[in-house]
Amino acid sequence: MNTHPFLRKSDVAMSWIPDALETRPVQDEAVAAVRDYHVNVIAWGTDPGYVPAETLISLNQRFKEAGVERIAWCCCLNIMPGKDFEHGGRPRECSDWSRHMVVDFLGQPITLPFWKNELWACANHPGYREFLLRRIKTSLDAGADAINVDNHIQGSWNVLFAVQWGQNPDALVGALGGCFCDACVDGFRRYLVRRFSEHERCDMGIRDVDTFDYRKILRAVASNRSQFIAAYASGELPFIDLYIQYQAENQLAISTCLKEFIVRHAQRQVAYSTNATSLFPNELADAHLVDHFVAETYYLRQPGKIAIVPYKLAEALGKGIATWPVAPDAACIIRESRTDLLRFWIAASYAMGGNMMVPHALYAENVHGGSLSAMDYAPIYHFIRNHKQFFDDYTAMAQVAVLYSNQAQAQQIWNCVQACAEGRAVDSLGMMFTSLHQLSLELTRLNIPFRFAVAGDQWLQHTLQPHELADCQRIFVPEPVCLDSRQKAVLSRFSDKVYPWHSSADTNAILDGLTPWLQLDASKLPVWLLPRRHIKDSTAPIVIHILNAGYDWDENRIPPVTNLTIHMDTAMAGGKMPRNITCLSPGHPPLNLPFYAQSNTVTISIPQLELWNLIVIE
Ligand SMILES: [Zn+2]
Repeated sequence: MNTHPFLRKSDVAMSWIPDALETRPVQDEAVAAVRDYHVNVIAWGTDPGYVPAETLISLNQRFKEAGVERIAWCCCLNIMPGKDFEHGGRPRECSDWSRHMVVDFLGQPITLPFWKNELWACANHPGYREFLLRRIKTSLDAGADAINVDNHIQGSWNVLFAVQWGQNPDALVGALGGCFCDACVDGFRRYLVRRFSEHERCDMGIRDVDTFDYRKILRAVASNRSQFIAAYASGELPFIDLYIQYQAENQLAISTCLKEFIVRHAQRQVAYSTNATSLFPNELADAHLVDHFVAETYYLRQPGKIAIVPYKLAEALGKGIATWPVAPDAACIIRESRTDLLRFWIAASYAMGGNMMVPHALYAENVHGGSLSAMDYAPIYHFIRNHKQFFDDYTAMAQVAVLYSNQAQAQQIWNCVQACAEGRAVDSLGMMFTSLHQLSLELTRLNIPFRFAVAGDQWLQHTLQPHELADCQRIFVPEPVCLDSRQKAVLSRFSDKVYPWHSSADTNAILDGLTPWLQLDASKLPVWLLPRRHIKDSTAPIVIHILNAGYDWDENRIPPVTNLTIHMDTAMAGGKMPRNITCLSPGHPPLNLPFYAQSNTVTISIPQLELWNLIVIE
């Protein structure tokens, strides 16, 4: 599906989950931000757990009067006992919170490593799930156009947290299938019955599934958390991989339940999205259910690193993606006043088919409300809204394909979990920058247009299709590759153009003999060329997003580039010669660009590049 009725590529989206949102000044600020930035979508509004229903209704109205067309309210799948119930009251069947918490194999609560070490409730518990549905109903009744689910991977499966908070035993126990509450362990019994015959269960040593208590099995191996983690590291936790897979399937079951409720209750089109952060492999079990992602993305705030993979993956899956920087990235921007860096992230997001949300009320270091001056960023968003015809329904043009294997990505993260369990130090930012990220960045820097061809696994429901590979000149496969036999067979049909990639040392070899569609006169310039085409209208102009990627970390600015010359192979445009080329740029009037053609090459001269030029080729 390539259309996004809730989130279109030219939309200017905002997230709004501030503290003290009931106070008039906070609301007034948000409405002012909508007007300043020309926001037309609230992609992540607050959760009805925090406000009375009537406030939600009046906020809906105020935002829409200010120009917002569509609003998503949030459903957060973790509960901070106390705060969430100040307005909604505590439902009777949820009154005994100790029975609903995410717990370890000893029954001790597992806290949220990223949120003030709070407890959280288990969405596998039917009572808590009912409570979530009531909150969604409140949002729907208040006129929600979408429901955005936060923490959709729930307490049962926070693999990533284990790596980020490797020294935190709560994070590791959570990653290894925790929660182990009554509801989870009962469900595991039913899972074993569903998945294995009696004979198979006997072979596994499970004679009587009715009395099978997984916690007892684990307690026979370990009597405290450090023993539990050590037993995992040495491969002595029985059935742990199965239990983790069971919890992954629970995540899908939770999303299915929420989405079905929305369809049933709303009786109108209501979109469904998840906060899938950087679209990590363990967050995609329900990807086929979401209409778009609203993602707290890791921009990795280090020289030479940036988020590219989430945009490429979302586009390959046919989903929109509204992003905002994770708290440590936002804190870096605010604390160090890195205005140009954030401007670059915003421009790069739209140039790659995403919608980075406006930096109003950023969430930084456990504090909502880090706001930056709209004057610094609003012109970029106005530029996008003024030229929406060159964003909506456009997709990346691709000379080559890069194989995305969900299993390979997952394996690289699990290697880090293993390292954490063994007590080894893990560089969490480095861990996120896998070989796939390195290859994506290298191709972007070299201006080789590419797209992902996606191979799913037991988590991500997507099967590699021949048409994802057929029209690309080469297929780059980051190693190590993990594919099931069916997808391996699809890839092998194109074996004459498959190139394995292990590290940067392979880059020259894999590009040898390839005539790039786009080339800069000065190839060392930090300028990215990202061509896009309309997916429905073959007569619509091709566009090339030209980004100045020369952000200087020491100087904290992007030096402008002058007198840029680009050579475009007409093969990129199906052999057609351009009639007219226009340069659009934030803060500048449109400019007709001089160009000349010689055999199959069109040479385009661009006088100046500040942050971002959009070249329209007719
Ligand atoms: Zn549970």
